[in-house]
Amino acid sequence: MRLNNTLTRRVEEVVPVDDRKIGMYSCGPTVYRYVHIGNLRTFLLSDLLRRALEFEGYEVTQVMNITDVGHMTDEASDSGRDKMDLAVADEGLSPKEIAQKYTQAFLDDTEAIGIKRVHVYPKATEHIPEMIELTERLIENGHAYEVDGTVYYDVRSFPEYGKLSGNTLDKLRAGHRQELEVDSNKRHPEDFALWKKAGPNRLMRWDSPWGEGFPGWHIECSAMSMKYLGERFDIHTGGVDLIFPHHEDEIAQSEGGVRHEVISAWVHGGFLRLKEQKMAKSSGNIIRIGDLAALGIDPLSFRYFTFETRYRKEMDFSEDALRAADTTVKRLRQRMAEWGGPAEGLGSEAKAFDGRFREAVADDLDMPQALVILNELASSRNVPDPEKYSLVSSWDQVLGLDVERDARAGWQPSDEVAALVGERDAARANKDFATADRVRDRLQELGLEVMDTPEGTRVRPRI
Ligand code: AMP
Ligand code: ZN
Repeated sequence: MRLNNTLTRRVEEVVPVDDRKIGMYSCGPTVYRYVHIGNLRTFLLSDLLRRALEFEGYEVTQVMNITDVGHMTDEASDSGRDKMDLAVADEGLSPKEIAQKYTQAFLDDTEAIGIKRVHVYPKATEHIPEMIELTERLIENGHAYEVDGTVYYDVRSFPEYGKLSGNTLDKLRAGHRQELEVDSNKRHPEDFALWKKAGPNRLMRWDSPWGEGFPGWHIECSAMSMKYLGERFDIHTGGVDLIFPHHEDEIAQSEGGVRHEVISAWVHGGFLRLKEQKMAKSSGNIIRIGDLAALGIDPLSFRYFTFETRYRKEMDFSEDALRAADTTVKRLRQRMAEWGGPAEGLGSEAKAFDGRFREAVADDLDMPQALVILNELASSRNVPDPEKYSLVSSWDQVLGLDVERDARAGWQPSDEVAALVGERDAARANKDFATADRVRDRLQELGLEVMDTPEGTRVRPRI
């Protein structure tokens, strides 16, 4: 598996810390709102990566945090209000109830699009002691300081700050000259909070060595990733918007805490845009996965739709493109039913297809290319149907499109096939045998056996 590593800015071979095992951490949802299909594009990337690694035979342990505290309305200045507090005010539920409601909705939405459950979903609120412990360690190591109940990370103490995002201190400083410094307690404007003192109206607060407060957002991912995956692990994923400051700060925290590199590869997914805009909770232009079912679109078709664009590229949401993906997925399931069932073994043509598919997936998840190969196989005249069935069902470990659904349910003619059968019967009734024969040939081309019965044309998959 080769992946584009944001840290080294190169496509690199994955070399696990531990033989055939991969530890993977993915930034998860903030559970004060529903997730939208933009978030789901990013969560699908981590699912795809996990499936692709498992397809190659790795044993993957995947961890995804649930952020139920600490996201502020203004991350850049570490001020503003906690978004969870705002949701509490809006909905009249307790923070715990809000978190439960949206965590369940998140799990339902991810399940609807075939995202596999990860191994651990640690909640930020259940790991406050680990975050305090790491913050203490950072103070001991000379990376952090306390002022009036708030603990800041001293970015100047970490010379490699900026190595992920390119936002090195000199670049940040140039930008800061224009801005008003909001927090005079910081030694430097680029410093960020690890722990924040709780104001009087603050709902979610915990005791700490620095008084009552709550953790910053970035510290949860450092504390929880190292707790569940160890102080050296393989892959960290998230959307491109998290590179700075979230992941840059995570590196400064984790490496400042353990004094060595923690994560080998950083993989970031591009945004899904709706009508040219970034899809975001704050701008109100969101689509949920449940909205697609109301349009008659299988939620799994959203997977296929995202696979049509390379994961790092921005992509635009389009209902037409999603509908086209939906048609393709449904047609593929019917073809599978028509192909009947798996083969005993694979011939050389089929093996060549398999090699090409695996190569595309291993090449930094080149799914657009993998889909080209899938469609080429489906229409190939050189591969026997049962071998097509075997290949596509094995590739579905990566695709996750439930390709065997129709085959399991028993064969049903597609709309196209039903229309052709109708056309043939009408032609025969009109004694237009030329058309009837042409339609029969077409049905046979589709892999069907065509029978003439007293009730008219009958078709079934040719086994
Ligand atoms: P959030 O709940 O806003 O922290 O987002 C959860 C995940 O979704 C993060 O990895 C974000 O980078 C990602 N994300 C947010 N908006 C989009 C979008 N429009 N397209 C793709 N990913 C997104
Ligand atoms: Zn994170």
